Amino acid sequence: MEKWKMKSNSLNKRHIAILGSTGSIGKQTLDVISYHRDAFEVELLTANNNADLLIEQALKFTPNSVVICNTELYEKVKNALAHTDIKVFAGVESAGELAGAEDVQIVVAAMVGFSGLKPTIAAMKRGKIIALANKETLVAAGSIISSLSQQYNAPIIPVDSEHSAIFQCLQGERTRIEKIILTASGGPFRNWDISDFEKITPKNALAHPNWDMGAKVTIDSATMMNKGLEVIEAAWLFNLPVDQIEVIVHPQSVVHSMVQFTDGSLKAQLGYPDMRVPIQFALSYPDRIELNTQRLDFVQLKELTFFAPDMKKFPCLRIAYDAFRKGGNAPCAISGANEIAVNAFLNGKIKFIQIPQVIENTIQKCTFVSAPTLDDIFETNSQAQRIAAEIVGAM
Ligand code: MG
Repeated sequence: MEKWKMKSNSLNKRHIAILGSTGSIGKQTLDVISYHRDAFEVELLTANNNADLLIEQALKFTPNSVVICNTELYEKVKNALAHTDIKVFAGVESAGELAGAEDVQIVVAAMVGFSGLKPTIAAMKRGKIIALANKETLVAAGSIISSLSQQYNAPIIPVDSEHSAIFQCLQGERTRIEKIILTASGGPFRNWDISDFEKITPKNALAHPNWDMGAKVTIDSATMMNKGLEVIEAAWLFNLPVDQIEVIVHPQSVVHSMVQFTDGSLKAQLGYPDMRVPIQFALSYPDRIELNTQRLDFVQLKELTFFAPDMKKFPCLRIAYDAFRKGGNAPCAISGANEIAVNAFLNGKIKFIQIPQVIENTIQKCTFVSAPTLDDIFETNSQAQRIAAEIVGAM
């Protein structure tokens, strides 16, 4: 495909838009780009609320445009960049519109949560390559996103480390996948006794052993909802039923995921945890370019261990599998309810062990739609959030 042609010289630079440039993935994307200024050109940066960092990034990477989604911060950004040629826009609508601009080739979809859906769809409709870091997009609207990708020739390259690992394992393969094995670190509570889960505080939950991520994803890792959402994400990305997607706890986070083929062969992608690896592969695909990440030392590593996940301790994983099997708007409902439950936990309104309860009670009350349209998806998300908020309020 023409889209993938990449030369190592600066004549054929790739032009990048980053939706959510001030978040964890956005910052690491810019870090990757800063080492390869000859290969990548930043066209667009967008942020929700972090105006200061957006301004700093804009001054360093001189994109064509920036968008501050929170319209109240528009004047601040506008004034700070008044002496430059950078165009400043406000509102989430502008983010989608500009990501679809002529000059953009790759859109890094790194906004947090459901808010990433609209601008990602806008970019897909303009046939952009989507480097997808926002898993809620596929979880909430998997069937719609998959058909848009086909219809508008807008390929999706996964940025999530597990999905990138699978994507990398599939390079050069033409035969059917028998099984995907998604690895999970198990989060900070893997070795906690279930009777102590009652006492888990946001501070405990925010201390992730291996990966440095934003607060939402870190809490999702602690409940293992993150892995549940990733199972759904993998099902859509690789067109497999969830029964062919197995989750295995691997505390070292060195094996980023594996693919098993029909002859029993397994391929894995390994490395020390560093999100810049999958980010960079999504930007440079199908080529690999240099990266200053730490190289694996197997002798130092000594052992890699694997365990079955404990569904009693981490019911969110089971909830996600069930939601995908139920189909329709059920995955969207759990994603919406989860966003509210995670926020409520971070704000001290509910306990850690109440997160799965909020989600399960929400699904039971949500209107089920078996073949949701995009409007249904938006409606489901609002309904799930409203119901979840009521449940939180009553706890
Ligand atoms: Mg992941």
